[in-house]
Amino acid sequence: MIDASAVRPTSSVQDRSAPTRPGIVPARRGATVDVAGLHRRYWTADGSLDAINGVDLTISPGEFCVIVGPSGCGKTTLLRIIAGLDRATSGLMEQHGPDGRPPTNAMVFQGHSVFPWLTVRQNVSYGLKLQGVGRRERGNRADRLLERVGLTRFARVYPHQLSEGMRQRVAIARALAVDPDLLLMDEPFGALDEQTRLRLQEELLRIWEDTGKTVLFVTHSIDEAMVLADRIVVMSAQPGRVKANIAVPFARPRSLTAVRSDPRFAPIFSQIWDLLRNEEEIVSPLPLERV
Ligand code: ADP
Ligand code: MG
Repeated sequence: MIDASAVRPTSSVQDRSAPTRPGIVPARRGATVDVAGLHRRYWTADGSLDAINGVDLTISPGEFCVIVGPSGCGKTTLLRIIAGLDRATSGLMEQHGPDGRPPTNAMVFQGHSVFPWLTVRQNVSYGLKLQGVGRRERGNRADRLLERVGLTRFARVYPHQLSEGMRQRVAIARALAVDPDLLLMDEPFGALDEQTRLRLQEELLRIWEDTGKTVLFVTHSIDEAMVLADRIVVMSAQPGRVKANIAVPFARPRSLTAVRSDPRFAPIFSQIWDLLRNEEEIVSPLPLERV
C-alpha cells in the first residue's frame, strides 16, 4: 500500500493478478485498485467537510464495478482520487497494471468530456498525440474506434454539430483510444434520453467484453447498475464509505432485455433500493411538522 495523501496512483512492484472470473470472454487485462480507509476533507469558507471517510474498496482486473450512492456522498471525489486528479487527505491506495507496469487510466464525465475546438477524429486521437504516437497510427486507431462507436460518418464534424448521445460516444472513443488499464466513468449516461442510454449501455458492454478493461462506473440508476455491473458498491450518505457490496449474478455476455426479465432482477433491485432509501433519508430528513 502507498500513502494516498502523498502519492499519485502508481504501479507496485508485485503483480497480483486476481483469478479470472468464470464465463467471461477473453483473458482479462486491466488494473487492480485497492483503497483502504480513504478520507478526503475539503476546507471551505464555512469550515471543513468530509466528503468521504473510511472508504475500503478492492477492484479486480477486468471487473466492471459500479458505484451507487446518494448525491454528495463523494462518488466523484473517490473517482478523482483514483484517477490521480485529486489527493486523499489520508488513507491508502494501491494500483497495479497488467504485467507489473504502471496502470493507465482514462475518465469519462457527464458532458464536458470532449474538446469543442477539435473535430471528432481529432478528439479521439488527442490522447495518442500526447503519448507521442505517430500521425498515421493515430489516424488508424481513431478510425477503428469511431467505427466501433458508429461515428465514422461524423469524423470531420465538431462536437457542437452532434447530439448529446453522439458526443458521449466520442468521449468513450477518446478514453478508449489511449488503451487505459482502468476506465473511470462518472455518470456518463446521466443526461441522455432513455433510448440513447440503452444503446450506449449495450455498446459499452460489448466494448468491455472485447477489451477486458477494469471499469469503475458511477450511476444514480439502479437499473443501469444492474445491467452493467459484476458488482455494485452502495455508498452511505456523506461522509461516504462503502455500505454494501452486491454481486450481480447475470450471465455474460449480457443482454439488456434478458437481465431485466431475469427472476433475480427484482429482489436485487429491492435490496439496493432499501439500502439507498435509508441513506436518502439521512440526507434529506422530512420537515419536523410532517414527521
Ligand atoms: P457525489 O459525486 O457523490 O455527488 P462529490 O464527490 O461531488 O459527491 O462531493 C462530495 C461532497 O464534497 C459534496 O458535499 C461537495 O459539495 C463537496 N465537494 C466536492 N468537491 C469540493 C471542493 N473542491 N471543495 C469543497 N467541497 C467539495
Ligand atoms: Mg458526482
